[in-house]
Amino acid sequence: MNEAEILKRYWGFDSFRPLQDDIIRSVLTGNDTLALLPTGGGKSLCFQVPAMVMEGICIVISPLVALMKDQVENLKSKGINAIAIYAGMGKREIDILLDNCIYGNIKFLYLSPERLLSEIVRERISYMNVNLIAVDEAHCISQWGYDFRPPYRKISDLREILPNVPVLALTATATQFVREDIVAQLQFRKPAVYVQSFARKNLGYVVLDDEDKYKRLIAIVTNVKGSGLVYVRNRRETEQVAAFLKRNGFAADFYHAGIVRDERFKKQEDWKQNKIRVMVATNAFGMGIDKPDVRFVVHLDLPESLEAYYQEAGRAGRDGQRAYGVLLANKTDWRALQGKYENSFPEPDEIRKVYHNLGSYFQLAYGAGEGLNFSFDLADFCKRFDLGVIKTLAALKFLEHDGYITLTENIFLQSRVLFIVGNED
Ligand code: ADP
Ligand code: MG
Repeated sequence: MNEAEILKRYWGFDSFRPLQDDIIRSVLTGNDTLALLPTGGGKSLCFQVPAMVMEGICIVISPLVALMKDQVENLKSKGINAIAIYAGMGKREIDILLDNCIYGNIKFLYLSPERLLSEIVRERISYMNVNLIAVDEAHCISQWGYDFRPPYRKISDLREILPNVPVLALTATATQFVREDIVAQLQFRKPAVYVQSFARKNLGYVVLDDEDKYKRLIAIVTNVKGSGLVYVRNRRETEQVAAFLKRNGFAADFYHAGIVRDERFKKQEDWKQNKIRVMVATNAFGMGIDKPDVRFVVHLDLPESLEAYYQEAGRAGRDGQRAYGVLLANKTDWRALQGKYENSFPEPDEIRKVYHNLGSYFQLAYGAGEGLNFSFDLADFCKRFDLGVIKTLAALKFLEHDGYITLTENIFLQSRVLFIVGNED
């Protein structure tokens, strides 16, 4: 069966998502491949489908036992033979499972990276007919990533045992630095890299300096048609803003974690079914809510972090139609932000990471031909290297203080751009 037939037969899906088929074809060609897709983008299929097309067994390295068990159960439910070996299992049990991988018809062997250290596992692997090594959550291999797992470094040993088997590394981390590190650590030959853009083309991001946020909110709700979300930082405010919108003739409601479960569910459903047009909520609202036709997400208060903003504003326009993320900020907000970064003391690790990444960032900028007129875009920098904005500002300040770098201008003043998460193009 080819990849499309496998997809239909075992998963019941009619087509691949963007990039899935490119990644699968790259793997089937025998390339070492790095796949960067956002969370929920469908990374599992990128190794599961080609492994089903090919003869032999696929070894999957995964950092979490829960994740492994989940995927194994999932494959089994489709009639596919899969097993997992992780810490805490008995020796005899492991022995039998490994034998099954050599002589049985197991298609997937999930391994925790710690298990790669054991001699018996290594020895048996050399007898297996391995068709692919899949490294899930591959950023764990890099100490520049946010979740470094030292045993992940042992994955490269697999390459000695199985020199001709292609490797597929998968992650949702898009930072250039981690990306290069993964390719180096896994000793990719001629790496094929596939990156799904994290940009949302139909989503316009706007930051408005406005002292009268409520007035501006009315203007937005009046002018942008369709369903919307308004985020505020505390529970009391959700009620106040919802009441204000209602007084002005808009069907609004409020939502926060302090409301009893049944009522929360009802509010959520009413909004989903457009009985309520605008939901005013704390960040308790949104996780797992997939409403495709949200036309605007307004932040009346500064979001917790750039990452949080990307998630929250990203709830607009899932249907691909025009939508807006609007951040309203006034002088008090900018002052609060400034206070926050001035008071946070950076960790040595953070400073090291910022310093190191500054180097490659400058290189990128020069490479792009911007020459000496290099301007530092904090938002872009943080996004590229997966760094928190507040900590980065603190680290930059520290580096300047210690004379490692010179900040010719007040970075903070420029950092207003920092909440424009920005379209990449
Ligand atoms: P990731 O590992 O990238 O976070 P998953 O592999 O867990 O994402 O997939 C997320 C969801 O998307 C799963 O429910 C999966 O079944 C679904 N999915 C993946 N590929 C497709 C596809 N081609 N068509 C429909 N659904 C898909
Ligand atoms: Mg995954």
